[in-house]
Amino acid sequence: MVSLVILNIGIDDTDSKKGMCTTYVGAVIIRRIREIGGRLEGFPKLIRLNPMWPHKTRGNCAVAMKVRISRQRIPIVKRIVLDTVRELAELRSETTNPGVVFYESEDIPKCLKTFSKKTVQEVVDLKEAEELAKEVEAEIHKFKLGNGVIGALAAIGHPLDRDWTFELIAYRIRENWGTPRKIDAESVFRMNAETYPETFDNLDPLTGEIRITPHTPCPILYGIRGETPEAVEKASKLVRTLEPVDFMITYKTNQGTDEHYLRLKKISEVKPYRSVIVDGTVCRAPRTIPGGHVIFSVKNGSGEIDCAAYEPTRKFREIARSLVIGDKVRVFGGVKEKPNLPLTVNLEKISILKLVPLVEKRNPTCPRCGRRMKSEGKGKGYSCKKCKINAPEGKAETIRLPRKILLRIFEVPPRCRRHLAKPLVREVHVAHESREI
Ligand code: ATP
Repeated sequence: MVSLVILNIGIDDTDSKKGMCTTYVGAVIIRRIREIGGRLEGFPKLIRLNPMWPHKTRGNCAVAMKVRISRQRIPIVKRIVLDTVRELAELRSETTNPGVVFYESEDIPKCLKTFSKKTVQEVVDLKEAEELAKEVEAEIHKFKLGNGVIGALAAIGHPLDRDWTFELIAYRIRENWGTPRKIDAESVFRMNAETYPETFDNLDPLTGEIRITPHTPCPILYGIRGETPEAVEKASKLVRTLEPVDFMITYKTNQGTDEHYLRLKKISEVKPYRSVIVDGTVCRAPRTIPGGHVIFSVKNGSGEIDCAAYEPTRKFREIARSLVIGDKVRVFGGVKEKPNLPLTVNLEKISILKLVPLVEKRNPTCPRCGRRMKSEGKGKGYSCKKCKINAPEGKAETIRLPRKILLRIFEVPPRCRRHLAKPLVREVHVAHESREI
């Protein structure tokens, strides 16, 4: 009997802003491996890496797959992978530096899992990836600078065993790449009505914009995200396309899992190019800056940081605007560094933990005519000129104003969401009781 072995294949950095997509390269490779009798173990993986990594092309994704194949056929599989990357990758683009990793093993060692998590949450360098590949005896192939080895190794190393979702991707035929996508919008609304929340982020509820089609010249016609392979498959059957679909693939992915966040205790630990969750007390009131962005600051024992709700998040900015000094919040977001500006958390979610009472001091009313009395100046009390009645300073009324905000978590709309951010509809339990105060 021929003994079969597992070959893990990781691929990254094949596209440019002008075209291509690593998921497509992965999907073509899978088709070609199947054509020669190779069998895939489980679903191929689409792994989103650090969304704050400044040198990503778009969504910072890498792909990996596990192929069960006879040892003798491994060289054929490797040749298919390398030839396909050479054929499809945007090698002429200066910033496209593909990397391919082959790793023969049933299990993924802990050090690869740790590296994968680090690549999703932090910044790593190529040398680190190359040394790790050597340590675990993974085979690397660098095209040009070969930066893609980082993502390729991280995708192999991702166990997708804690939380995961699925994405079904339908690709366009080559002749249509770069032309406007043709999909029956009504069918997408119906699909959403029938499958949400088992599928999610199909539409932007505020604008009604269809979110399953990308706006780039890449080969993707649409992608449907969901909780199970069955859900995304059912949804794709409900979508009516007005142009041919070349083929489809379903990836298992870390999209929509919040895996990118580093939970930090101290604001002083916040570093740029990461995404963080940190608690703090509002210490500078929200202000709207030119461009319509809303900025406020939070502090905890060790430091202070700006938080921004950007203009495209539209209604989400109202949450930021309704905060006052002293409110306690948990902020979720990517950390940006701009010259001569403090570090800023680009808000993706905000959880309102505690609201301070909002009070307003009002002049007392005249006991005779009932009108509001006038102030006589600071510390000098009040008077009603008409009735010639005076009142001491202490007679001022303190009115508690209603807070126009809930003790709960809020998220930016789907159109502004990172691929990795977990939509609230996926939350199993709500962290804070939702109540109006
Ligand atoms: P797309 O999502 O459209 O496929 P992309 O946004 O994934 O494109 P790439 O073209 O793959 O972008 O480029 C990202 C590059 O950055 C890859 O070479 C990858 O190996 C590397 N990279 C990814 N995450 C990190 C990280 N956390 N630290 C350092 N390098 C990273």
